Amino acid sequence: MVIVMAPDASSADIEAVADLVATAGGEAYVTRGVSRTIIGLVGDVRHFETLDLRALPGVSDVLRISAPYKLVSRENNAERSLVTVRGVPIGPGHTTVIAGPCAVETPEQTLQAAHMAADAGASLLRGGAYKPRTSPYAFQGLGEAGLKILSDVRDETGLPVVTEVVDASDVDLVASYADMLQIGTRNMQNFALLQAAGEAGKPVLLKRGMNATIEEWLMAAEYIAQRGNLDIVLCERGIRTFEKATRNTLDISAVPVAQDLSHLPVIVDPSHSGGKRSLVLPLSRAALAVGADGVIVDVHPRPETALCDGPQALVESDLAELRDAAQTHAALLGRTLAEAPAPAVV
Ligand code: PEP
Ligand code: MN
Repeated sequence: MVIVMAPDASSADIEAVADLVATAGGEAYVTRGVSRTIIGLVGDVRHFETLDLRALPGVSDVLRISAPYKLVSRENNAERSLVTVRGVPIGPGHTTVIAGPCAVETPEQTLQAAHMAADAGASLLRGGAYKPRTSPYAFQGLGEAGLKILSDVRDETGLPVVTEVVDASDVDLVASYADMLQIGTRNMQNFALLQAAGEAGKPVLLKRGMNATIEEWLMAAEYIAQRGNLDIVLCERGIRTFEKATRNTLDISAVPVAQDLSHLPVIVDPSHSGGKRSLVLPLSRAALAVGADGVIVDVHPRPETALCDGPQALVESDLAELRDAAQTHAALLGRTLAEAPAPAVV
């Protein structure tokens, strides 16, 4: 932390700051410039945060130098992390495709979508059993029956399951079926949910809040990490802007920015950002080219009948193109396309 003194600060003002810092167990390094004095604080920043340094006479500004998130910060962990989901890697050296229906609707639809996901190069199956919908009249998901379908489809195809949890009280139930817990954009600052997910013993896919800054997103990840779970993957899924041509504006720069600030893997959701089938492949290519560790994509065997987000779901004829894009970008960037584990022998 650095304290910038006002040009007219007196020596007594400077000494008062140094004394207060010393009483909080820190050290103050005073640098007297031509027009201003700056004071560098060394010690545990949490002790300084409780001091009202701004209120002291002669203090012009208090600047934080280190990131407010610690456990997920790259400052404290220079190596980028690899998260594994039932053996499937997400992170440096790998390109991981996650695909599946927006929502689990029926066993047949989920199984067909899982086969489509595998054809698209996916090694993880997505699908919501609990859906956070803007309208209370929209399909809310099948709940536990949907989790059972996902688990049966995992047994049949071998694809580990990524599924959303929307309420802290459901975390244990969802974690008993899922291989990775998804926290959606609308819940990125549901702190009780983040904490419960941090204690669930499963990797977490944390989507960026549609109105959240990158710092707020990383602070949300810190809530999960603080409960002892560092198996977190960040997902940029588009933010709210004035633009209406897309469902959300894909903040492609968030990928390298978040990878620079945090050691956690970062993937992109081109389906919920673009909101249109025709945008999903171009946005997937952009995400992989900018260095995303993977993409999460909606697919559906019959999007015209989908109970949720049909217009953005890829169809059969798109799958080979997504797989080729993932393979080509992986090879160009020296990464390996992650493979699905073999199906369980039953
Ligand atoms: C989803 O992935 O199904 C979803 C609801 O996404 P988001 O939270 O990004 O809107
Ligand atoms: Mn959706």
